[in-house]
Amino acid sequence: MEKREFQAESKKLLDMVINSIYSQREVFLRELISNASDAIDKLYYRALTDDNLTFNKDDYYIKLTPNKDTRTLTVTDTGIGMTKEEMENNLGIIAKSGSHQFKKENEIKDGHDIIGQFGVGFYAAFMVAEKVTVISRSIDSEEAYKWESTGPDGYTIEPAEKEEVGTEIILYIKENEEEESYDEFLEEYRIRQIVKKYSDFIRYPIKMDVTESKLKEGTEDEYEDVITEETLNTMIPIWKKNKSELTDEDYENFYREKHYGFDKPLKHIHISVDGAVRYDAILYIPESAPYNYYTKEYEKGLELYSNGVLIMEKSPELLPDYFSFVKGLVDSEDLSLNISREMLQHDRQLKIIEKNINKRIKQQLKQILTNDREAYERFYQSFGQQLKYGVYSDFGQHKEVLQDLLLFYSSKEKKLVTLDEYVERMPEEQKYIYYAQGDTVERADKLPQTELVKDKGYEILYFTDEIDEFAIRMLMSYKDKEFKNVSSGDLGIEPDEKEKEEEKEAAKEHEDLFKKMKEVLGDKVTDVRASKRLKSHPVVLTADGEISIEMEKIINSMPDDQQIKADKVLEINVNHEIMNALQRAHDQGEEQLKLYTNLLFNQALLIEGLPIEDPVAFTNDMVKVML
Ligand code: ADP
Repeated sequence: MEKREFQAESKKLLDMVINSIYSQREVFLRELISNASDAIDKLYYRALTDDNLTFNKDDYYIKLTPNKDTRTLTVTDTGIGMTKEEMENNLGIIAKSGSHQFKKENEIKDGHDIIGQFGVGFYAAFMVAEKVTVISRSIDSEEAYKWESTGPDGYTIEPAEKEEVGTEIILYIKENEEEESYDEFLEEYRIRQIVKKYSDFIRYPIKMDVTESKLKEGTEDEYEDVITEETLNTMIPIWKKNKSELTDEDYENFYREKHYGFDKPLKHIHISVDGAVRYDAILYIPESAPYNYYTKEYEKGLELYSNGVLIMEKSPELLPDYFSFVKGLVDSEDLSLNISREMLQHDRQLKIIEKNINKRIKQQLKQILTNDREAYERFYQSFGQQLKYGVYSDFGQHKEVLQDLLLFYSSKEKKLVTLDEYVERMPEEQKYIYYAQGDTVERADKLPQTELVKDKGYEILYFTDEIDEFAIRMLMSYKDKEFKNVSSGDLGIEPDEKEKEEEKEAAKEHEDLFKKMKEVLGDKVTDVRASKRLKSHPVVLTADGEISIEMEKIINSMPDDQQIKADKVLEINVNHEIMNALQRAHDQGEEQLKLYTNLLFNQALLIEGLPIEDPVAFTNDMVKVML
């Protein structure tokens, strides 16, 4: 028998599980029962596809056996069991996802009540047990194995005897310590209580032999202990219960029990529909994104039940991509179990349910947005990006659904606002919804391009996500108001007569200068012109046409060959003192004007966050000016 070490991360977690003080040690039982139920489900799956197996519901159960004499609590299941390799892989290493989440969670909280927010599954057993023995026989194996561990030191695996397929987990309950008693986990009444609280809906019977003191037959005062096997859970799934019977805590417990997430869900939606297609659903809007949410690894989907029987763990058809963060399940008696799961995916009923659910999620989100803005912002922090991708994807097909759920930072309100709030506040003469793009709100706020718009008293939305401008371009307009980048050629702000006159004069006066500057810059810019938008800054780079400078940056940074170019315009503030310097340089001759033009252009690039083509030449130019 060889002793093996746990993987490093598992060891760390295990240490924490054991050594931290938990307010709810009792959840270990929820975790073990949940695993047992999953194991039976797996066998059920197998029976669905394997003709040699029959699934007789009565043969499948979970049994709890407390024993005060041996100080053990045994959890037995008749599920699929584990092979030796599975024991090694599943019980020796914490699921990768688990350990990642553990690390993340760990940075925020100091480990207290980690179980509460985060299921560590099997390991939870070590909160109450000093030794754990797992004896299991897999459906795929003739042999049984015994896994045993006393905690972080490691574990052993050796052959064992077991007739039936399934798993038996024996917890050697800890001895009482000075201030800690573990006796409760050997008490029948307490075990019953815990099962009721966390595992009532488990759809296999959770059995326990219950001892009752009963009057001995034929006597009047003699009592005897009678042992009867009792099923502790009602097996009514939570989604079949009446909403009024359920508390928020019940829904939260279920969320954790199901391992939908490690966070506390923001909101739940409990739906019971008795229409053309009958179904029940419990959906959750999580508050924080799983660590892999914005990666390819993440799989969206809802659990799909047919009449209380799980038939698919993740049915992607039930959720559109833009709501891929939603967790939960759907149970419908109108889905036939006889059709293969393959066919089920394209079921007409599923489509109807999907549509329905989609509507409810949107409603719920709007409700949170209206009634609990702070909660919505937390949600948006995690999933706003996904909503924006949703607006952009599929050629803007979903923009109607999603546009009212978007938030952007406002230059005026200094907080996130909806498009509706923006439009409602617009002065009558304002034609466009203005936005500015920057890496951060602070940077966007400092952009010289914002000056005129701000000067007019108009609100600007600051876009800080790469997707923002793409999504908005897809949206095109909101409530008939078009979007306008503050850097775009025409801002749609009409100058008054006097300004028009001045502009004309300036253009004429500097015509020759600007022409020469354009010659210096060649095809780096499409034009050099007097700026209409600058107030205090000397120079800025803007874009004529469809492609903004930000879009150029983003698309060109993508790892494919596609390169695009914005039509850049160097705008000069003719009311700025810089004009005198330029004019002087112009008079001094070609070399000097070239120097100044390049300097200004490079400065404009810097402001835009674009790279300077030749930094050495740029600094040399700067030095020349100093001398
Ligand atoms: P999780 O359930 O989140 O995957 P656990 O630590 O609870 O993590 O369990 C790890 C794995 O061990 C399970 O995914 C399962 O494969 C296996 N396992 C645990 N308990 C049982 C059981 N009673 N029967 C069969 N396999 C089990």
